[in-house]
Amino acid sequence: MHREKKHKGIAASQGISIGKAYLYARKQVNINTMNISDEEVKAEIVLLENSIEVSLKELSKIYNISVERIGEKNSKIFEAQIEIIKDKIFLDSVLNRIKTENRSAGFVFNDETEKLGQIFLKSENTYMHERYADIMDVKNRVIRNMKRDKLVSKVEENAIIFAHELTPADTILFSRRKVQGYATDTGGITSHTAIISRALRVPSVVGLKMISRQIASGDTVIVDGFEGVVIVNPTEQTIANYTKKQEEYKNHELLLVNVLHKPCETLDKKRVEITANIEFIEETEFLQSCGDCGIGLYRTEHLYMEKGDFPSIGEQIEDYTHISNITFPKKVTIRTYDLGGDKIYKDNNYKELNPYLGWRGIRMCLDKKDIFKEQLEALLISSVKKNIKIMLPMIASVDEVKETKKLLKEVKKDLDGKGVFYDKNISLGIMIEVPSAVLMAEELAKEVDFFSIGTNDLTQYILAVDRGNDFIANLYQQFHPAVIRALSKVVEAGHNHKIKVSICGEMASVPLAAPLLIGLGLDELSVLPSMFTEIKQTVRAIKYTEAKELVAELLTLPTEKLVREKLTDYFNKKIKPQII
Ligand code: PEP
Ligand code: MG
Repeated sequence: MHREKKHKGIAASQGISIGKAYLYARKQVNINTMNISDEEVKAEIVLLENSIEVSLKELSKIYNISVERIGEKNSKIFEAQIEIIKDKIFLDSVLNRIKTENRSAGFVFNDETEKLGQIFLKSENTYMHERYADIMDVKNRVIRNMKRDKLVSKVEENAIIFAHELTPADTILFSRRKVQGYATDTGGITSHTAIISRALRVPSVVGLKMISRQIASGDTVIVDGFEGVVIVNPTEQTIANYTKKQEEYKNHELLLVNVLHKPCETLDKKRVEITANIEFIEETEFLQSCGDCGIGLYRTEHLYMEKGDFPSIGEQIEDYTHISNITFPKKVTIRTYDLGGDKIYKDNNYKELNPYLGWRGIRMCLDKKDIFKEQLEALLISSVKKNIKIMLPMIASVDEVKETKKLLKEVKKDLDGKGVFYDKNISLGIMIEVPSAVLMAEELAKEVDFFSIGTNDLTQYILAVDRGNDFIANLYQQFHPAVIRALSKVVEAGHNHKIKVSICGEMASVPLAAPLLIGLGLDELSVLPSMFTEIKQTVRAIKYTEAKELVAELLTLPTEKLVREKLTDYFNKKIKPQII
């Protein structure tokens, strides 16, 4: 009987899952390095052939799932892996060595794939390094199959995924298998894996450091996405405790539904708009559970990710029109491509040492004008219902806004020339997520129709703390005095120029942050669909006049610890008692 063990990480997506672990890893398997007898050679050849066949079947299955979910181009990695094990010359040399050297199939296959891999590893080229990883993946799969280690190579339904690291593509791929939870060694609260798991409403814990080395597929595990804890081999008592917690959470969610059709306003009737952040079109099915709210942030990067390339104008029009239709009569704020940084952008000729400070968001769009204009055109063509707002990411200067406005004007002129109908007064807003934009907020406010604060990036840039690096996750302080002072400055600048200020960073989805954000005077909170009702209920429990006084005090405090303490104290005394 294994002993119960608790691992502490970072809570990335709320909820509790109890189930069986599935380890997504390159697992080391023992290989027989001894010489074998002539009689055994025959059996080893059969073993090799069988495991190749099984591996091929597995890979084609994974390839199909991948194509369905993220498109053909993004699935090339699996095609490449299939090619490796189908390579006749390679396989012949493995068979030959088994026979002539009297070695086990595992030993020779390992040796040959390592030799092949080294050729790629020696290369300076990143693409070649990726090929090395492909070869090692294939090696592990085939050798695992020789050991009939089924659990590791098969993606089980309803499993809780454990991995050293998950790319956004892994997360999407696994999501098809009714995944019940994610737990990873790496990642921070705003890494995209964390964001996607929240969007999928799947409990997850990231930044567990060594968990992938301390777990085996099939282990019973509990993922507590509230506390950021993973419990491996829980005792019956622990399972019973967590099952109770799970039930309570479900009941809590049911009770929250009560506020669904009540107005989004504070106790003293200050209206605050609450909208949803949408990253994938599938998430729009949650909109109904949010009382058919508007969308405060629609990320368009998924169009690129799914295709592995920029989508055509037709594909974009289809997507934007669809989102406009399902949100109507409420508004949808569509953000133009924010590729680069933590968001996948594959260009084998292009590598950056500091992608977060590099060619991302609006910078890339303004350099790829044809692609950017095509996106603006698609947005305008899709705006017939007049409920689309355009939002630009990563704005760092007034020039970027002016340049975009010039492009938008050109696109509008072209459409006018063609007699195409579109929303002539379409709103153009910007994300405030770079410190220079905070400092230039007064000037920027004169140029645009709205601001939306992206606290995920703003916090990382103000504090110089990588949002995805769990080693410094404790320094990523969302209530740091510098961050809240920046928020205050942006709201003030926006309101001075009579434009609305919203927040679409993860902070908007944190109930504890609600009194701060309301007191600061934010007009709109764009939250994760899974947090919608909870935030709404929290807002309805706040008195705006009181929150304003609280914020005036918070803005004088010198440390995040003090801000958090004051906020928690207020939350526990004034808000909690009103929330069921
Ligand atoms: C942000 O930076 O806060 C934001 C909402 O954008 P993203 O997380 O997509 O970078
Ligand atoms: Mg951002």
